[in-house]
Amino acid sequence: VGLGANLGRPVRQLRQALTQISAWPQLQGLRVSSFYRTPPWGLAGQPDFINAVAELDTDWAPDRLLTELQRIEAEGGRVRLGERWGPRTLDLDILHVEGVCRSDPDLTLPHPRIAERAFVLLPLSELTPELELPGQGKVRTLLAAVDTSGCQRLEAAEPD
Ligand code: ATP
Ligand code: MG
Ligand code: MG
Repeated sequence: VGLGANLGRPVRQLRQALTQISAWPQLQGLRVSSFYRTPPWGLAGQPDFINAVAELDTDWAPDRLLTELQRIEAEGGRVRLGERWGPRTLDLDILHVEGVCRSDPDLTLPHPRIAERAFVLLPLSELTPELELPGQGKVRTLLAAVDTSGCQRLEAAEPD
């Protein structure tokens, strides 16, 4: 799962979302990357983002997982301002589900834009550098090909 926010209190909102995920009844394991401060992608002229990636084990099918993530987005006050890639209080995307490849617009897996995004590849490579993303490549290799110069890893003790 890729997490991002650039409105309100982004660090707090990511921590809150992770707390909610960690309380899911059937969750088996949860590993969380560092948080990163990253420049906006796709649409300039908005605040920097805070981004992270979480890996988890769940019995939920991918569609149910997305529904539950969207519930957390909504509870986090996500307002859709109508602008693609615009500012938001919380974005929770499914990056990859083991063994699943699909191009449904409601849920495309793996997420189709990972290879272009340093803000995803940096935290993802902390957790699964050897992961091979079908159609895109290995995380470690993809990371080496993107510009990470504007991205800054935050200390774990970063205040909310
Ligand atoms: P991007 O997907 O480029 O990161 P975004 O996260 O800003 O853009 P949203 O507004 O959060 O886009 O979501 C738009 C739609 O994308 C959602 O309604 C959802 O159904 C769909 N979607 C397709 N694939 C995925 C995925 N892998 N994870 C999350 N949402 C997805
Ligand atoms: Mg997104
Ligand atoms: Mg999204």
